Amino acid sequence: MDNVGVIGGGLMGAGIAEVSARAGLDVVVVESSEEAAKAALGRLEKSLSRAESKGKLDGAGGTTAEQVLGRIRVETDLGAVADRDVVVEAIVENEAAKVALFKALDDIVTSPDAILASNTSSIPIMKLGVVTSRPQQVIGIHFFNPVPVLQLVELVPSLLTSTETTARSREWVEGSLAKKAIDCQDRAGFVVNALLIPFILSAIRMLESGFATAEDIDRGLVLGAAHPQGPLALADLIGLDTTKAVAESLYEEFKEPLYAAPPLLARMVDAGLLGRKTGRGFYTYD
Ligand code: NAD
Repeated sequence: MDNVGVIGGGLMGAGIAEVSARAGLDVVVVESSEEAAKAALGRLEKSLSRAESKGKLDGAGGTTAEQVLGRIRVETDLGAVADRDVVVEAIVENEAAKVALFKALDDIVTSPDAILASNTSSIPIMKLGVVTSRPQQVIGIHFFNPVPVLQLVELVPSLLTSTETTARSREWVEGSLAKKAIDCQDRAGFVVNALLIPFILSAIRMLESGFATAEDIDRGLVLGAAHPQGPLALADLIGLDTTKAVAESLYEEFKEPLYAAPPLLARMVDAGLLGRKTGRGFYTYD
């Protein structure tokens, strides 16, 4: 699977495009507008020049940011992924938007063997598979943020995904991209977010109820539990909109109060305080 399509060039899509190109694969990214395409390219350039300056570009994609970027095209027409072997969807965490996209991809992607993957954090893969004519080739390939740094990928076959699709996806993730895969059932949140999101929501409830400051909550987990960063800093990194959307999918699936988004999270999202990507969340960023 040497020809990769990535839909959405945001935080995750740009990361998936980067690791694919660094592995020597040919990548087409599709964004929703010219402005968003420009932003995606900017994200890729910034991340790759950082990797180059740290001497980390040594894969099959080349040793310079320019060589790796040369393997990536950013387009605005979905037709650009027609010839891809694998397409990874990384658009907003919204079920209706993803369902519409999978219907469109099913019409557009011509290779009969192509794998249609979603990077969703919480939406059941079955809901995306059944709107296509090839649910046996639809699978969750869930990367972690930041994609160039974190090793883990969750592989999420639905009840209708073929064992061949799962095996080819594992080979792509571990063989081509040099990541490590774990297998998950098709349940909202899979393994990592089903554990991580209630933890983050508890930290937000703790802040909201005045138990402790954001800084002290985070410092507590870093110094007392050896976490690399605290839960509120992590929420800012994930994006508060994505955190809330994942919580809502978990709540929808399990109806457990621990998955309910606290009002503070909802108000911050309403206010556009989405974390690092907007410069302000629980902390402020330059
Ligand atoms: P993001 O908001 O940074 O990026 C989404 C991008 O998709 C935007 O650039 C937007 O312009 C683009 N887009 C929206 N609709 C589109 C369409 N129809 N066609 C093409 N492009 C479109 O979001 P993100 O954090 O990159 O999350 C993307 C997906 O990855 C979500 O499903 C999210 O749950 C999942 N995910 C996120 C994280 C995380 O830490 N943020 C981790 C793992 C998985």
